[in-house]
Order: sequence, then C-alpha cells, then structure tokens
Amino acid sequence: MRALRVYGKDGFRIEDIPEPQPGPGEVKLEVHFCGICGSDVHDYVEGPRLLPVGRPHPQTGRIAPITYGHEFSAEVVEVGPGVQGIQTGARVVVRPTMPCYRCRYCIEGRAIQCTQLAAVGGAADGAYARFAVVRADCVLPLPASVSWETGAYAEPLACGVRAVRRSRLEPGAVAAVIGAGPIGLLTMQMALACGAREVHVFETARVRRELALKLGASSVLDPREGDPGRVIGKLTGGQRVDVAFECAGTGPALQLADQVSGRGATIVQVGVQREPVTFDFFSLFFREKTIVTSQGYSNPEFEIAVGLLGAGRIKPHPVMTSAIIPLEEVITGGIEALLGPQRESHCKILVAP
Ligand SMILES: [Zn+2]
Ligand SMILES: [Zn+2]
Repeated sequence: MRALRVYGKDGFRIEDIPEPQPGPGEVKLEVHFCGICGSDVHDYVEGPRLLPVGRPHPQTGRIAPITYGHEFSAEVVEVGPGVQGIQTGARVVVRPTMPCYRCRYCIEGRAIQCTQLAAVGGAADGAYARFAVVRADCVLPLPASVSWETGAYAEPLACGVRAVRRSRLEPGAVAAVIGAGPIGLLTMQMALACGAREVHVFETARVRRELALKLGASSVLDPREGDPGRVIGKLTGGQRVDVAFECAGTGPALQLADQVSGRGATIVQVGVQREPVTFDFFSLFFREKTIVTSQGYSNPEFEIAVGLLGAGRIKPHPVMTSAIIPLEEVITGGIEALLGPQRESHCKILVAP
C-alpha cells in the first residue's frame, strides 16, 4: 500500500510499504479521513522534533521511517488476538497518544505527562495510508451522528477541550483567541460551548477571520490594525478579557495575549512556541495574571471531544475543511499548500487515503 513515510529532516516520501497486520492487542483499521496537522507542516520545514531517528523509541521500539498522520476516522477491518469489545466494521476514531500506563504520571492519571509517551503518527505508524494498525486502547467508537469527515476533527478538538479546561474559564467570561488556525477555531468553539459570553478572535488572514465569524466569534480583529489593547478595551467596557488563548505559537501572539487580557486574567499557551520569547513579566505581575500551558489532552478529554461532536455541540466540518485531497497529493496539495502563497486561504485539509 502507499504511505507517507517520514525519515527525518527533508525526508518525507510517499512510497510502497507492506500492508500491516495486527498483533496481540492491536486493531487494523481502514482510514477514511486524516487531517493535516500544523505539526506535520512544522516537521516538514524544520525537521521532526519527536520522531525517533537513529534511536528506537523507548516504548514502541520503533525507529524512523514512520508513517505520519494522527487526526483520523476509520473503520475496523481486523481485530488482533486478545482484543475485546471492538468489532469488525465498527466506525471509530483514534486517540493518538499511547501512554505507558506504568510510570508515576500514568498511575496518577496524568498520562499526557507520561515519561515514555508515544504517539500514533510519531513513534508508531499513523494514518497517511489506506490501513493503520493501532493499539486497541487508542480506539474509540465514532457516534453514528458524526460523519467520517467530522470524526477527523476529534483529535484537534481534544486540544481545545484541554485548553479550555486548563483556563478554568467560568460561564459568562469574556475570552480572546489569538490565531484562528484549526486549533484556535476549535478552542473558540469550545470556549463558547462552555459558556463564554464573548470570544474575540485576532487573526491576520482575512479568510480565517471570516471562518471565525461563521463559527460564532463575537468579533474578529486584525492585530495589525490599531492598538489591540485599546480596541479590546472598547469592546469590553475597559476591562479587557478574562481568558486569552495563544493559539498561534509566536512571540508576538503571546505579547498580544498579554495586551488584550485584563486584571487577574489567565493566558493559556496552546500554540507551540519553538523559539525563546521575550515577555513583559511586569505586566503579568502587576495585574496578577496567570500563564498556563496546555499540551495535547488526557484520555478523558479526548472522550469529551468525541462526545461534543456526537451531541452536535461543535460542528467543525464542512466550515473548517478547505480541501479534501487523495493520499498521493498529501505533500504537494496538502503540506506545501499550507506553506505556499495560498496558505492563508486554507484551514483544515483532509486526506482521503
Ligand atoms: Zn494534530
Ligand atoms: Zn507513563
């Protein structure tokens, strides 16, 4: 079968590999849709951060090349020995995180901090291929009310679920989202679903501002126009926001989160900051703000994401889906489209292997 294999920096190749077979405790899936993640794009440009290159992953024993793709819906086609409660033909989504369940953090219920955490599409083969074999504990039923396309959003939505939980956002709070990429838009919808009175979105790309409005943003603002702190002050009776979600992963976006947030606010770092950032700690100190980070999701948070999609409380597809492409185009029509001149017109690209 064809698969997108990642060897390391400058090593993204679509090639033929043998169809995988499920071992004990594993399930074989036929992939329906797999979303292209911002992390795939970063890894393509800067080289993979977490791929086990040259040294086996301590938990999976796997070494690059590895099949990428971790945001997907699929159908169970074969069940390995010893697997219970999963039937052939079931519609499912996959939680890519593979905790060890043995370290201190796993035992304490903090699996996202697992010392040997592996991920499907990172340290185990993922879903940029027709078939994927995954550990059975990663497989969750996809509610009948959720389309295959929408199912591919469960994983990024789970990041939004954690971001809002980490923020301790109260019903009636006023929030801001900096950066309206897929994670920012899903975090925005999650904040609204949790009772935020208003969510103001800062985004430089016009198309993404329009998407934010369609999905329920209270206002959309271009941070390059005017003084964002004053603009948000006017919109909030001078108080600015209670919670600011930094979903762009840049220094200026974090500084903007500080500018638009008020006294006692919480700033949640959701975007991946890959470079050191200069930040005004006096502003943080003087207004007694809190910064929290939010990375990935816990197992229960992934289930919450699937449940919200099942209940129709969050509807990312088709609004956020900017293209659906075949596997052969995942590099040229997918990852490179998210880097090229048209990137600002894209949001989530789904691959249909
Ligand atoms: Zn992702
Ligand atoms: Zn662990």
